[in-house]
Amino acid sequence: MGLRRIALVGSTGSIGTSTLEVVRAHPERFSIDCLVAGRRGDVLAEQVRSFRPRVAAVSDAAGFEALCKGLGVSPATARWNDTELVCGDDAIVHVIRESRADVVVAAVVGMAGLSGVLAAIDSGKDIALANKESLVVGGELVMERARAAGVSIIPVDSEHSALFQVLQGTQEEDLESVILTASGGPFLHTPISEFSAITPERALKHPKWSMGAKISIDSATMMNKALEVIEARWLFNVPSKRIEVIIHPQSIIHSMIRLVDGTVLAQLSIPDMKGPIAYALTYPNERARGVMERLDFTKVTELTFLPVDDQKFPGLRRAKECLEGANGACAVLNTANEVAVELFLNKALAFESIHRLIGDSLEKFGSRSYQDAKELFSLTDEVSVWARQHATSIRT
Ligand code: NDP
Repeated sequence: MGLRRIALVGSTGSIGTSTLEVVRAHPERFSIDCLVAGRRGDVLAEQVRSFRPRVAAVSDAAGFEALCKGLGVSPATARWNDTELVCGDDAIVHVIRESRADVVVAAVVGMAGLSGVLAAIDSGKDIALANKESLVVGGELVMERARAAGVSIIPVDSEHSALFQVLQGTQEEDLESVILTASGGPFLHTPISEFSAITPERALKHPKWSMGAKISIDSATMMNKALEVIEARWLFNVPSKRIEVIIHPQSIIHSMIRLVDGTVLAQLSIPDMKGPIAYALTYPNERARGVMERLDFTKVTELTFLPVDDQKFPGLRRAKECLEGANGACAVLNTANEVAVELFLNKALAFESIHRLIGDSLEKFGSRSYQDAKELFSLTDEVSVWARQHATSIRT
């Protein structure tokens, strides 16, 4: 395999920095063409010094100041050595479109990542997809455009990477169902009666994975698994009734498939996102060596499994209902969740009210559909405004 050029969108986040670790460990296989971040210009400046990309872009104006300051150049110059420095959301879309990368790593958090994913597709670049929200919001649109453009979308999410790996060599007609595993998050054993006392600080502490703030809260509410059910439906073209979810607190089995003869195939490894990231970047060529620590079976004392408690975590049921309903329903679910997580992190909404805000938003907007990207963005804008307003009437 020749050198693979990467456009890393969301470089300053958890997935972004793990991606850079993989690149740093394999300079003979990967190079960075452009780095894109949201606000943390200071962190981006350090990355620019280390990886010397052709372009570095940041969406936020204050972040751009911090980027230039960190590199010791004036914002008017907009250049550091051979690196062009760029600012603004539209500029980011332009950077992705014009990039010389072979693959775009989509690692922005939230539906803010959708425009970058569409830009990558429209410019014919393959995608290593961590940004699940873009598929939750616009799965039909994204997959259709990718198919038409001949673009491959390789999952980075560990569960979907596991499914992608075990599906290699499986005939479509042999597949009965896919089984997503879930850690259950930090409140798996917390009674629902204690949910009212959950603070952002507690919810941010995931027992197995170290991740960005938004996905950590999604794991605590198990909305993460709800989003992943929708992501799996689009990535693997499997109807919702053939997507199973099982809680597996050890996070050793990352997901499984069930075949028509009763066989189950699973993918196992230690929980480390560098594994799925490296796999997505190397596929379909030989795997990268030395990416993850080895799984030591003598130390795996137990592998346990539990069903999901629908009363505590109603998101999974709702995700499946959305998949069966109007094509805008999943976008409504995702938008309401993003608003709820932001408000919870800002202590403006109680943990136990996150699911309530999602449910109320679905009741109001769940039957809406969209025809194209413009209508989709207008729906998410409308839901976002309404959900923020409605949250003020819900107990915090
Ligand atoms: P983080 O919050 O750690 O990082 C998010 C990244 O997105 C940051 O680089 C941030 O920039 C950037 N960003 C945010 N808004 C914008 C914007 N408008 N324009 C450009 N960049 C933006 O998130 P994670 O890395 O945890 O998650 C990223 C995605 O990967 C999510 O969709 C998540 O669900 C998925 N995922 C994450 C896993 C994990 O282990 N973390 C596992 C599986 C999936 P800045 O920080 O500079 O503001």
